Amino acid sequence: MDLKINQQTKPMDIKSRVELIDITSYVEKEVENSRVREGVCIITTPHTCAGIIINENEPGILLDIVNFLDKLVHSGEVYEHNKIDNNADAHLKTLLLGSSEVIPVVEGKLELGAWQSIFFAEMDGPRDERRVNVIVIKK
Ligand code: ZN
Repeated sequence: MDLKINQQTKPMDIKSRVELIDITSYVEKEVENSRVREGVCIITTPHTCAGIIINENEPGILLDIVNFLDKLVHSGEVYEHNKIDNNADAHLKTLLLGSSEVIPVVEGKLELGAWQSIFFAEMDGPRDERRVNVIVIKK
């Protein structure tokens, strides 16, 4: 098997505490640059307070997602982690989001649904040292 792995890293500049940033076109470009025709694309982020999600890029649902996470995880709760680092809510939200997604690559393109976009989901910004890894593996 001819296994080819192409990995690229994108730095992220985050301006607010919570941000959902559409990175679909960046990921599509990396798939194109990899020249992989058939395989998988893995998008990961190496942080504990930021995740990778797939959803629709529609302003209403993006706000709904942020509000939904706020309802599930209250920032005013007493959390053990806040004794050393005042961001337990961001860790717990990230736990729900997950830190990676896997998407098939078919005929050189990401096999996303018509309404699917890929987002970097910051839960504890602003930050300037965030990054996303895009790994393309040839079948
Ligand atoms: Zn923390």
